[in-house]
Amino acid sequence: MPISDKNPGAPDLNIMERRTALYKEPGVERLLRELFEKDAKIEPSFDLEYGYRYPQVEKLTGHGVDETKSLLNKMTDLGIFNKEKFDEGILCPKCRSPNITINYSCPYDNSKEIERDSLIEHLACGHIDTLSHFKRENDLVCPRCKANLTPGSYRNAGSWNTCGSCGRRLESLWVLHKCRKCGATFTFEDAQIQESYIYSLSEFAKADIKRGVFFASQLREIVERHGYSITTPLVLKGSSGIDYDFDLIATTKEGKRITIDVNFGETKIARNMVMEMSGKYRDVGEKSYLIIAPKTEPENQNLADSLQIKLVQGETPGDALESFSQILASDRDGDKTKPSKRSFFSNLKKALNYWT
Ligand SMILES: [Zn+2]
Ligand SMILES: [Zn+2]
Ligand SMILES: [Zn+2]
Repeated sequence: MPISDKNPGAPDLNIMERRTALYKEPGVERLLRELFEKDAKIEPSFDLEYGYRYPQVEKLTGHGVDETKSLLNKMTDLGIFNKEKFDEGILCPKCRSPNITINYSCPYDNSKEIERDSLIEHLACGHIDTLSHFKRENDLVCPRCKANLTPGSYRNAGSWNTCGSCGRRLESLWVLHKCRKCGATFTFEDAQIQESYIYSLSEFAKADIKRGVFFASQLREIVERHGYSITTPLVLKGSSGIDYDFDLIATTKEGKRITIDVNFGETKIARNMVMEMSGKYRDVGEKSYLIIAPKTEPENQNLADSLQIKLVQGETPGDALESFSQILASDRDGDKTKPSKRSFFSNLKKALNYWT
């Protein structure tokens, strides 16, 4: 489809999907969470082997120098980062080394014996000459009017180069780059340019993070902290024979299993979602938590209660995960203090009813 046919106001689904896929890479998540939490930027650093590189990102993602750069490019293309130019470095066109030295030489005979002299202007008489022509032992004396120069009576008028070999005064020098690694010499025109950037989180990425795109690993941290281990695959078969996906399935050492679904979004969940989830949970028959943000309407909470859905809510994903953590903590304490299983009591109750 030509670009002009696209509705400019519509979000590009392809880019959003690719962004979401990228968020699932563990290194990317570590990087983005750290940048977000520390409100930090990615800045390049320079070394003589690679030139500009991003060691902070290499460390967090485990990627090499070039892989890291293409990852940063990709993330910028997908709107995760904004970038601003930091610097341009020069690389050897032959071996790509950034270890470059610059040689200046006479454009007439290529001699490297360049003598550099400052130009001085005597303000009173307007005479301009090289500094060496003004020098008389420890004083500066104007060669034209013979006056002694005092501070403020003259100004620096630039510099002047003279070739030590052919004696010509040179207005400009021949500039040549030399690679310290392979010895190649090259002009600026032939040099490879290495651009470096400062990357910062875009507003899109910040919104995605606030929306809880990284909930999966936070959720894992929470359940593991409360003594569960993660079970894979994240699929359970219901008694109807249907396979159901979950965001997380976790089991305690004692074999107690829970399932967790997460729904973080811009809008409150709808009533039919509660109904749907209830069907799924009943079919699977495990202790199932549904974690949502923002909070739903009170009538949906009542519906969830009546359908025995363990609904965990928060205004933000962070709040919801926090209350889930508290629920797991109190569930665990509850298990410890319970003298026996509920089924024992209900059986006992039945038995008593039977006898009375
Ligand atoms: Zn003078
Ligand atoms: Zn010369
Ligand atoms: Zn080289």
